[in-house]
Amino acid sequence: MNQVVNPATEETIAELDEPGVDELNAAVARAKAAFPAWSAVSPPDRIRLMRRVAALIEENAEDLARLETRNVGKPISDSRGEVAMVADVFHYYAGAIDKHHGETIPVAGGVDMTFREPLGVVGLITPWNFPLNIASWKVAPALACGNTVVLKPAEITPLSSIRLGELIVEAGVPEGVMNVVAGKGSIVGQAMCEHDDISKIGFTGSTEVGANVMRAAAGTIKRVTLELGGKSANIVFADADLERAASAAPYAVFGNAGQDCCARSRILIERPAFDRFAELLADSTAALRVGDPEEEKTEMGPLISATQREIVSSYVEGDVIFRGEAPTGPGFWYPPTLLGPLSNDARQAREEIFGPVAVLVPFEDEADAIRIANDTPYGLSGSVWTRDVGRAMRVARGVQAGVLSVNSNTSVRVSTPFGGMKQSGFGRELGMHGLDGYSDVKNVFVATEE
Ligand code: NAP
Ligand code: MG
Repeated sequence: MNQVVNPATEETIAELDEPGVDELNAAVARAKAAFPAWSAVSPPDRIRLMRRVAALIEENAEDLARLETRNVGKPISDSRGEVAMVADVFHYYAGAIDKHHGETIPVAGGVDMTFREPLGVVGLITPWNFPLNIASWKVAPALACGNTVVLKPAEITPLSSIRLGELIVEAGVPEGVMNVVAGKGSIVGQAMCEHDDISKIGFTGSTEVGANVMRAAAGTIKRVTLELGGKSANIVFADADLERAASAAPYAVFGNAGQDCCARSRILIERPAFDRFAELLADSTAALRVGDPEEEKTEMGPLISATQREIVSSYVEGDVIFRGEAPTGPGFWYPPTLLGPLSNDARQAREEIFGPVAVLVPFEDEADAIRIANDTPYGLSGSVWTRDVGRAMRVARGVQAGVLSVNSNTSVRVSTPFGGMKQSGFGRELGMHGLDGYSDVKNVFVATEE
């Protein structure tokens, strides 16, 4: 039995049977059987079905948001925003179906053309921090390209993915096209990576498990895309609008209680502005509303589990600049915490803490900022705060990360590519780039000479 817990109350909210390899094999067989008919559905019909999925998500938005909040502990306003994005992702990829096409290439002796072919059955493995959102980034482009799907959500947060699977069937997508197997990663996830009848794994999770996925997928030459961990830099120059940067920074690292792959958890500050910025940041962090995630105004909820809280606590030994408040009593609470000034060599600046702990690191000049930002095995996201446009561009180009923003915290938009460099993984989700991970290019040459 899988006991699903509300991390804000520690109450069991569902008890689910635990599917194993037999259930996985049955789901893969259903997906394989459904593939020929699904991949042959005409583009206008597939567009209509995908739009119907989006509409059903909108109709069920409040229920989905409440479910996500109860299972993940994230503030209800965040869950609402995430569910709205899920509907937008289905709308976007519905609209992309007849705009993702091949080309004709001038050649000698005939006509040459390319086609975008679906891959077959794709296996999708997702983490617990943004269960529904991240599932949609994979499921929608996979279905749009004509693949059939087996989705394995994280074991501790399966509820919204199971509901998404039901809504997709309710929308009229044929039986077998979309399957959810909410089993253990070490058993079901591992078996997916090794399965003969799965042609691609779309994975989001830790770098450690991502390496495992890649190894396990090698035996059958599966395609893999990996969205992995991060230790991103928020780079604040002394010429920036410090008030604006400081009021935005808490949301870049304490959102989702810091359990965010894009968290700007290393705050790099130009030395002359260090003390002033640290003060402003402590004030804006103190203003963060931490508490019951079902309350409308809450901005930060609990961590996902007691284990996660232990891991996060182990990083806070000293050098505390500021520590906020958090509820006591039931729930896996941890207060927003600022550490520093630290060197980038400190363990807290090198490892992904995945909790509401940010480290403040001083830097000397532009070159030093880029050097420190890149002194990490990760390369997912980052921000630059400055009023100098030329500097903003130089730093944005100099930082090795897949997603950068200037005078902003944001990383994710429906229509723009998202993904990592270095050990943050490879492959891009969202936008038209997201379709590349769920299709192969076929080239056909037709001789026309008599
Ligand atoms: P995780 O431990 O790597 O788990 C991710 C998924 O992999 C879960 O569904 C897990 O199942 C499954 N899994 C575990 N062992 C497996 C195996 N041997 N073979 C196949 N699948 C296996 O990650 P997490 O703790 O859920 O999430 C936190 C991590 O995800 C962080 O490092 C974070 O940075 C990263 N993340 C990255 C992005 C991004 O887009 N780059 C987004 C969100 C999160 P079980 O739950 O059953 O173990
Ligand atoms: Mg994990």
